[in-house]
Amino acid sequence: MDSVNGASHSSESQSTASATQAQAQATPSISEEREEEIRAELAQNPQAVAALDQLVADRNFGQLSEEQKVESLNSFMSAPNAATATYLQGAAEVSLNPQATPSSLTPDAGTLTLDGVTYGIQNGNLLDAEGRTVGTIRNDGTVQLANEAAARSVYDNIGTRVQLTEQIGAQTRTLVDLHAADPRGRLADPNLNQEVANRVTAVIEQARREGMNMRVDTAYRTFAEQDTLYAQGRTAPGNRVTNARAGQSWHNYGVAVDLVFNDANGRPSWAETNNWDRYGEIAVAQGLEWGGNWQGFTDRPHVEYHPGFDAGDARNMMQSHRQGGLEAVWDRMGIGQVP
Ligand SMILES: [Zn+2]
Repeated sequence: MDSVNGASHSSESQSTASATQAQAQATPSISEEREEEIRAELAQNPQAVAALDQLVADRNFGQLSEEQKVESLNSFMSAPNAATATYLQGAAEVSLNPQATPSSLTPDAGTLTLDGVTYGIQNGNLLDAEGRTVGTIRNDGTVQLANEAAARSVYDNIGTRVQLTEQIGAQTRTLVDLHAADPRGRLADPNLNQEVANRVTAVIEQARREGMNMRVDTAYRTFAEQDTLYAQGRTAPGNRVTNARAGQSWHNYGVAVDLVFNDANGRPSWAETNNWDRYGEIAVAQGLEWGGNWQGFTDRPHVEYHPGFDAGDARNMMQSHRQGGLEAVWDRMGIGQVP
């Protein structure tokens, strides 16, 4: 793939079969090019790549025109996960045969909690607590409630709980499984800078679209809370979790957040097996500094935002904080929010 000129040059002296092969390698189709771009973009998310593999291996997808394949791949990127791939397989089938009604368009079962209301899912229908059908849901994440004019996406609100499953024979396959990402409302804490909250929300949204079940662990921390944490593993029981005393952590100035993953039961998980690398990549793309990139003491759940200052500058904010509180600190960084 890396030597287009070399391939076409050497093909002159080779058999017809390998010359054709070399030519095919030298000129990928537009859908193959798009697929390769997507593979590169999602390289750190094996779960999303597996969903892409599933889509491109599908018989119906393979029969689409080049333009239709590109369109399908672009749709996949709106939420690159197994549920979207499953939906797009059904959409490919319909485009080849408009009479078809593939079951892959909608989840067989699952659960949805939207704005505090929990629905059961049965063959694409949303059921209320009494078992009445009150809306529909598709595997691309589109929700249509009967009493609402506009459709919604399950990926638009990080408070949404969604689990979509497909029944394949006796097996239940989970397509997507996301818990509410901020159950304790840490991102709404007025002591957390709004610019930071917005960027972290964008990170969580992208992670969720990619099938990563993330949640906020901690955000703003008072000086007293920081000292309690610093004592852990030193003068108090537990493992050492921070090298920062009160006033030395960006958490104390409302510009740092720790995100972790939800386990299958919706409990916070720090497990190695979680996809921390992809999380870090998404965070950096949102302009945040990721603790996983630090030398020495790495802190993979941690992201922080302090434009114009270095990671080690937190302690230098103490004086501003003493004089004018969080607003004075935020103003120094140009991210103040009082008009
Ligand atoms: Zn942290």
